[in-house]
Amino acid sequence: MTNKRDYYEILGVGRNADENEIKASYRKLALKYHPDRNPDDKKAEAQFKEAAEAYAVLRDPEKRGIYDQYGHAGLQGTGFSGFRGFDDIFSSFGNIFEEFFGFGGGRRSGTAGLRGSDLRYDLTINFTDAVFGVETEIEIDKLETCHTCEGTGCEPGTYPENCRHCNGSGQVSRSQGFFSIRTTCPYCRGQGRSIPHPCPECRGTGQVEQKKKVSVKIPAGVDTGSRLRLTGEGESGKRGGPPGDLYIFVNVKPHDFFKRNNSDVICQIPISFVQAALGDEISVPTLNGDKKLRIPKGTQPGEVFRFRGEGIPSIRGFGRGDQIMQVMVKTPTGLNKKQEALLKEFAKLESAKLSSRIKHMFSH
Ligand SMILES: [Zn+2]
Ligand SMILES: [Zn+2]
Repeated sequence: MTNKRDYYEILGVGRNADENEIKASYRKLALKYHPDRNPDDKKAEAQFKEAAEAYAVLRDPEKRGIYDQYGHAGLQGTGFSGFRGFDDIFSSFGNIFEEFFGFGGGRRSGTAGLRGSDLRYDLTINFTDAVFGVETEIEIDKLETCHTCEGTGCEPGTYPENCRHCNGSGQVSRSQGFFSIRTTCPYCRGQGRSIPHPCPECRGTGQVEQKKKVSVKIPAGVDTGSRLRLTGEGESGKRGGPPGDLYIFVNVKPHDFFKRNNSDVICQIPISFVQAALGDEISVPTLNGDKKLRIPKGTQPGEVFRFRGEGIPSIRGFGRGDQIMQVMVKTPTGLNKKQEALLKEFAKLESAKLSSRIKHMFSH
């Protein structure tokens, strides 16, 4: 980022160049390096991007002012970081390319489309939907292009006029000492036009808030904190700009029986001490229905068993975690006389065994 070329140098204009000069120079470069004319030419691509970046800064009085004063470093704090690719460039400059390339005709650069805002939606889903994926429909409030005026903001049959305050240039001059400083016109916010008869539906904004249903496909394996992007489902752009994106933030409800650890599911299984001692085969719920688990003879409390591949599918689409089961041995309560008698009988035999084992331990 440090060895960036000077923006004036890139466009081949002087530091005092006016808006028209800058635009004319950029037009020349954009035509020369346009991707349509230079297919698969990496160098032309880089020059096209470089010129677009220089133009984006120098056409904007505020950014230009910052750049003049502080250079490239000054723009870093403003959130401006150049362009990611062609789409980005074309969407940022909207119809300026139509103007350059001879269709669309004579529209002002100041009316170039603005990309719509991104939206966030927090979606809570249940555990099994997160595991297997789900398709659901959500309803969002968002700004959509007004259908009454088709986004122009003008009452149907009327048209925008040049802004009286800046004569349509989008900029006003004011003198400060010896200098005359050009700033963005505060009345039209640099658009160069005003709307004498605003559309009654959207009050001139060109957009109206609407409820919209969006169907969302949640992939298998999402977890709390997963974020999905629905390209183009955000708010509509202004003046023909592209729409923003919709981000779904997923929250997964806890499950009564299963807990999650990455792609494994963890659960605790209660068994009786008789099952632990003698072994048994029990039925255990899994994400795919009940499955038999063999408890071996002499299983200890806390011992862990595993069903391979019965866990959560990887969100990347391959592999699946395990189901990990921890045994909890229940001590029997509410014994009847006969059970008690049997246990006492058992204890006698056990204590004989135990005392001989202890004696054995101490003799060493
Ligand atoms: Zn104005
Ligand atoms: Zn409208």
